[in-house]
Amino acid sequence: MDETNPIRTGRLSVVLPAYNEEESVPLAAKTIAGLLEEAGLDYELIFVNDGSRDRTWQAVQAAATENSRVRGISFSRNFGKESAVFAGLAWAGGDCCVVMDCDLQHPPEKLVEMYRLWQQGYQVVEGVKVSRGKESFFHTLAAKTFYRFLSNATQIDMSRASDFKLLDRRAVDVLVAMREKNAFFRALSSWIGFSTAQVEFEVQPRQAGQSKWSIRSLFRYALTNLAAFSTAPLKMITMLGVVVFLLSLVMGGISLWQKLNGQALEGFTTVILLLLLMGSILMICLGIIGYYIAKIYEEVKDRPRYIVAEDCGGRKDET
Ligand code: UDP
Ligand code: MG
Repeated sequence: MDETNPIRTGRLSVVLPAYNEEESVPLAAKTIAGLLEEAGLDYELIFVNDGSRDRTWQAVQAAATENSRVRGISFSRNFGKESAVFAGLAWAGGDCCVVMDCDLQHPPEKLVEMYRLWQQGYQVVEGVKVSRGKESFFHTLAAKTFYRFLSNATQIDMSRASDFKLLDRRAVDVLVAMREKNAFFRALSSWIGFSTAQVEFEVQPRQAGQSKWSIRSLFRYALTNLAAFSTAPLKMITMLGVVVFLLSLVMGGISLWQKLNGQALEGFTTVILLLLLMGSILMICLGIIGYYIAKIYEEVKDRPRYIVAEDCGGRKDET
């Protein structure tokens, strides 16, 4: 240990969600294990196979046979990255856990830096993006808008936030105990507080395979998480109602005045336009409310966030 007086030491668990990453898994296992061994840390790697359709699970099993510090769990189907992250955290036995992508877009060298900060007493170490890496103009714009909304709703600046984070055992326990189904890891891990440090990193190009996000899935992701973290759309409906009401007072006044003066317009077109406008506004508002009801319904059913079908390389309580 190169620290002269380390305040605490402990095992580091690295949680790596993997969906169709057969090429990345062996690479990630080798790179990260090599790095952590070089730094002399006690560690474990937990790969969460999120219902991949390729040979990711076989790759995880192979990595676990090769290195006894590698463990894996496999979902019964694809549950999404958030679920994979939470499963990995629940499975992790370390005194601190790092969540990172297994495509090595989060630079593994930063792991040691994060661990050192944890040793100094920080309970959450956030990786913040210096740049967003190579992304299309549309992607950047959409991400910006989304985070502006979310930052307003949560009062937490999320514009540079990432899923690359170290969490102390206490923080992990708090997150795992949360019952929310629509858990948004990136925001929740800030929301819980704790003494936080930041580590800047450059988003690396993907080492192998392709990104799992389509525009459609990103859009759904943004909507779900906005609804999970903010009731702003509901408040906007009320505001909209007030604005329309004020407008209608003005319009009503004008119409009455014209009527009394005997110069009422032949406003049939106006009536149709108003009807259409009001109809669509009402429908959209109902849709927003319905969306929240759907989310409540999902939470109330209380289904598990994920289902583990298989695991390998030993369980939490062993070793
Ligand atoms: N991932 C996952 N489940 C999914 C989609 C993605 O576990 O349904 C994992 C994926 O294997 C990777 C990480 O989440 O380790 C980030 O995914 P990706 O690299 O596709 O996203 P990007 O880096 O482009 O944001
Ligand atoms: Mg990636």
